[in-house]
Amino acid sequence: MTQATAKLIDGNALSAKLRTDVAQRVTALKAKGVTPGLAVILVGENAASQVYVRNKVKSCAEVGMHSVLERYDASMTEADLLARVDALNHDASIHGILVQLPLPAHIDANKVIEFISPAKDVDGFHIASAGALMVGQPGFWPCTPYGCMKMLESIGYALRGKHAVVIGRSNIVGKPMAMMLLQQSATVTICHSATPDLKAHTLQADVIVAAVGKRNVLTADMVKPGAVVLDVGMNRNDEGKLCGDVDFDGVSRVAGYITPVPGGVGPMTITMLLVNTLESAERAAGEAPTA
Ligand code: NAP
Repeated sequence: MTQATAKLIDGNALSAKLRTDVAQRVTALKAKGVTPGLAVILVGENAASQVYVRNKVKSCAEVGMHSVLERYDASMTEADLLARVDALNHDASIHGILVQLPLPAHIDANKVIEFISPAKDVDGFHIASAGALMVGQPGFWPCTPYGCMKMLESIGYALRGKHAVVIGRSNIVGKPMAMMLLQQSATVTICHSATPDLKAHTLQADVIVAAVGKRNVLTADMVKPGAVVLDVGMNRNDEGKLCGDVDFDGVSRVAGYITPVPGGVGPMTITMLLVNTLESAERAAGEAPTA
């Protein structure tokens, strides 16, 4: 059997490096009297969401940031949630507001996201953030695709003139990912569930980002030798273990670089949330250009 040729892009190691830099900048900002603060709102009892918000709050503490976790019953009204967001918009100790999705069905998630002040939209989901990314203006980038860009940067990958294929077109991963790659002058193809022949596209790709949420969407026969493969997917295999969208063992024998699941894009997402919150606080302290 062919040996794995792909080099691993280690999201844990890169995160640790970036978080060390964040912690130093937090210390410097605190010395000037500003402590970066993140507010996380969780409505309801979604088990996965509870793990995510705990990790986000814990990560803030590890880099010296202030954070508040507001937990509400699933019966919370939309009006009450909007009132909480409004209060946090006006709270000077808070530089980033994150409303954990999904929200209960009776609450309009888009309305809530649009209610967050664009200056505190550290998730990068507000239309103002999406618009800024679209037209190449400064603004908050959604954390998961931003983390993918940092992974490419970490291997010194020059995207200019390369062909990138993004599988998935969600507002939080696929679309912003495509915009970021385009901004770096890659030629970008976006594939989705109505793409008739996915393999025909992926075989042309120098970079593939899989953001679907289905196991084995990308297999070895679909990858050009030497390609860079970033796996955003989070799924469970037959043994109940976390796995991505990519057939890791097979694709590792063809690709040039690959991200593992777990330990790849996942940790980078929280890291970029910390970066966005820090930069928001730096802006509030007049230390960085306005978003
Ligand atoms: P999503 O909103 O469900 O979007 C999935 C996308 O995949 C859709 O655009 C869909 O196409 C497309 N798709 C579905 N089946 C396909 C197929 N057979 N071939 C090609 N495209 C297909 O999911 P998401 O929020 O973007 O998340 C994607 C995955 O990333 C999930 O596993 C999620 O858990 C994971 N994720 C991980 C992180 C992290 O930190 N690691 C963060 C966010 C998300 P249509 O638009 O046509 O339906």
